[in-house]
Amino acid sequence: MSDFSMNVGADGVAIITWDTQGKSMNVMSEQGFIDLDALIDQVLADEAIKGAVITSGKEGSFAGGMDLNVIARMKEAGGDDPAASIFDGIMKIHSILRKIERAGMDPKTNKGGKPIAAALPGTALGIGLEIPLSCHRIFAADNPKAKIGLPEIMVGIFPGAGGTTRLVRKLGAMGASPLLLEGKLNDPKKAKSAGVVDEVVAPEELLDKARDWVLSEPKIVKPWDEKGYKMPGGAPYHPAGFMTFVGASAMVNGKTQGVYPAAKALLSAVYEGALVPFDTALKIEARWFTNVLLNPSSSAMIRSLFINKEALEKGANRPDQPDQKVSKVGVLGAGMMGAGIALVSAQAGIDVVLLDQDQAAADRGKAYTESYADKGIKRGKTTPEKKQALLDRITATTDYNALAGCDLIIEAVFEDPGVKAEVTAKVEAVVGEDCIFATNTSTLPITELAKASKRPEQYIGIHFFSPVERMLLVEIIKGKETGDRAVAKALDYVRQIKKTPIVVNDARFFYANRCIIPYINEGIRMVAEGVNPALIEHAAKLVGMPLGPLQLVDETSIDLGVKIAKATRAAMGDAYPDGAVDEVVFWMADEGRLGRKAKAGFYEYDEAGKRQGLWKGLEEKYPRAEEQPELIEVQHRLLFIQTLEAVRALEEGVLEDIREGDVGAILGWGFAPWSGGPFSWLDMLGTPYAAARTAELAETHGARFATPALLEEMGRKGQTFYGRFGDAARAA
Ligand code: NAD
Repeated sequence: MSDFSMNVGADGVAIITWDTQGKSMNVMSEQGFIDLDALIDQVLADEAIKGAVITSGKEGSFAGGMDLNVIARMKEAGGDDPAASIFDGIMKIHSILRKIERAGMDPKTNKGGKPIAAALPGTALGIGLEIPLSCHRIFAADNPKAKIGLPEIMVGIFPGAGGTTRLVRKLGAMGASPLLLEGKLNDPKKAKSAGVVDEVVAPEELLDKARDWVLSEPKIVKPWDEKGYKMPGGAPYHPAGFMTFVGASAMVNGKTQGVYPAAKALLSAVYEGALVPFDTALKIEARWFTNVLLNPSSSAMIRSLFINKEALEKGANRPDQPDQKVSKVGVLGAGMMGAGIALVSAQAGIDVVLLDQDQAAADRGKAYTESYADKGIKRGKTTPEKKQALLDRITATTDYNALAGCDLIIEAVFEDPGVKAEVTAKVEAVVGEDCIFATNTSTLPITELAKASKRPEQYIGIHFFSPVERMLLVEIIKGKETGDRAVAKALDYVRQIKKTPIVVNDARFFYANRCIIPYINEGIRMVAEGVNPALIEHAAKLVGMPLGPLQLVDETSIDLGVKIAKATRAAMGDAYPDGAVDEVVFWMADEGRLGRKAKAGFYEYDEAGKRQGLWKGLEEKYPRAEEQPELIEVQHRLLFIQTLEAVRALEEGVLEDIREGDVGAILGWGFAPWSGGPFSWLDMLGTPYAAARTAELAETHGARFATPALLEEMGRKGQTFYGRFGDAARAA
C-alpha cells in the first residue's frame, strides 16, 4: 500500500493524504516521493480537478522528516561516484517540489496552474516542512504541542530539498537564519509570526479552510517567480543584505569555530543562491548539499546523533524482558541530584517519594521542582495547573514507610559507601521483593555497593549528569551480579524520562567520567608545563569541545578535583599517574581558587559571577615556556587523551557497543560533536595513522598516550571501528 492516497471531492478539490504505514509519524522514503509525484501529475492532468490539499493521516502531526537512510542509500547506489548519485537524487526531489510550486503555470506568463495548499495538523519537520514550503499556502492547525521547523543542522546537514532556498526567499536571510542555522522549532502561532506558515486555524476547520482557499481562485505565483522580485532584507549585493551576510558569517564562525561543514555550506548556498534565479539557486543548494553529505563529519553526525541515538533510545541493547515501566519511584537524598531526578521523574508522570534525613532537606528538594515550574510559567512554557499536578506527584518525606509500593529506587545520598549501605538496608526492609534498586554514584564501584543489598541481581547504577533536567545522557552501569530485569527496568525508566541511555560495565569512573577526567588533567598538565593557558583553551574550542579544560574545571569546581584526586590516589597507590596535575590543583585549592562558585579559579570572575579573562596569577606561578607547542599538537593531546580512554573501555569490555561509546561521548560530555564521537573520529583519521600518532605522542609526552593493543592491531590490519564493531559485525 502506498503512503500517499488521494480523494477527489465533488467540489473538484483533491485531498492528498500522507500516511506512512506502520509509523506513528510520517517519514519520507524513496517510494513516497514516487507516489507523491504520480498524484501531483494526476492533479495537474485531470481537468475535473481544480486544485489540491496535501495533508496527513496522522493525528497531531504532518511529518517527522526524511528517513535519513534514504540519503545513505543514494550514496551507496552511486558506487564509485557517490557525488553524482546524490546530486541526481536531490535534483529529482527538487523537480517534484518545483512541479508542485509551478503547478502547471505557463513558464513565461505565469498564467494558469492549480492551487495546492498544505494543511498541517501538527508537527512538520525537515522534508515535512519543505514540501509545504513548495505549496502555495500553508495552513497549520492551532496545536500548541506541534513543532514546525527545519532541524537538519542539528545532525550535521542542512535543509537540502529546497527548504534553504525557499525559506530565505520567503523571509530574507535575516528572518530565516535562526530557523536554518540553529534549527529553531516553533509552535504554529510562532511559526506564523516568523512568517513560515501562512495561516493558523482551529484543528477542526483545517481541511475546510484549506479547501475553501483552493476554491477561491487565489493567486498562486510565488514572489520569486515574478518579475522584479526582491529578497526581503536585501540580496547580498544590496547594502542591507551585505550587512546581514557579514554578520551571519561572523556568527556562524563564532558558533561553530569553523568545524561544522554544514553551517558553512548552508551559508554558501544561501549567499550564492541569492545572486541567481530560483532554479539555479536550487541547483547550487543541491551542490552544497551533496558536498556536505560527502563530508565524513556529516555522515558521522547523522550516524551518531540521529540513527544510533534513536536506536539506543528505542532499546537496542535492552535484554528481552517484559515491560518494566516505572509507576512509583523512590528518590533517596534530596540534594542537587536527587532534586533533579525527582523533577524529571514527575515530569514523566511518575509518582515520586523524595526522602532525606530531615524534613527541611526533603522540602528543599521538592522546592526545586516548584521554582523550575515557576520559571516555566514566567516563560509561558507551563501553567499553574500543570505546576500543581507536578508538585502533587512528589511526596517529600523522611519516612521510609512511604517507599512501600515503589518499583524503582534511585539513591543519591552522600558519596560514602557506609551511608549508601545503610540506606540500602533500610529501603529493602520496606519495599516489595521485586523492587529494583539503583545508585547514582559517580565514583564508587557498583559491584561493591551491591554487597549491601540482599538482592544484588536487582542492584544497578543509574548515573545522571548535572544538571539532571538539562543533560540528555544517562549512564546505566551493570555490577557483576546485576540481572537482566534490572537493566530492562533502568532502560524503560530512562525512556520514560525521555533521555538517551548507554549501558556499560562496572569499572572505575564507568565510561563518561573515565574519559573526561583525563581531558581536564591534560589541560592542567599543560599549564604546569608552561603552555600558554589561552592556547590550551582555544585549541580545545577550535577542535569543537564546548568548554576548554580549564573552564570545565572551574565549572565543576577545584575542590571536586581535589576530592577525586585523593580518592583515586588512595585506590591506585604507586600506579597513580597524575602527580603533576595534583600539584597545580592542590595549589589552586590552597589559594582559595575553587572555580566559578568561588568567583575565582583558572579564570577571573566579576562580582556577578560573570567569567572574565584567564587568571593572571597562573602565569606567575607557572611561567610561560619560551617555546610554545603548535596548535595541532595541543589539540591532538586533548582529543587523543579522551579517545584512548574510550578505546581502553572497549578493549576492557566496559563498553560493549561502540555506538554507545560515540553517542555517550557527545551527549555526556560534548566530545567534539562534528566528529560523531571518539570511534567515528578514529575511523575518520584512519586507524593506521591514529596508531602511529599515539605512539609518537607517547614518546614525547608519556605512557598515558601509549597505543592500546586493540588500536595497534586494527592499524596494522587497516580496520575501521565501525567495520569491525558496527552494524554488520553485530548482525553476524
Ligand atoms: P548533595 O550533597 O547535594 O545531596 C546529598 C543529599 O543526600 C543531601 O540532601 C543529604 O541530606 C542527603 N543524605 C545524606 N545522607 C542521607 C541519608 N542517610 N538518608 C537520606 N538522605 C541522606 O549531593 P549530590 O551532588 O546530589 O550527589 C548525590 C549523589 O549523586 C552522590 O553519590 C554523587 O556522587 C552522585 N552524583 C553527583 C553528581 C554531581 O554532579 N553532583 C553527578 C552524578 C552523580
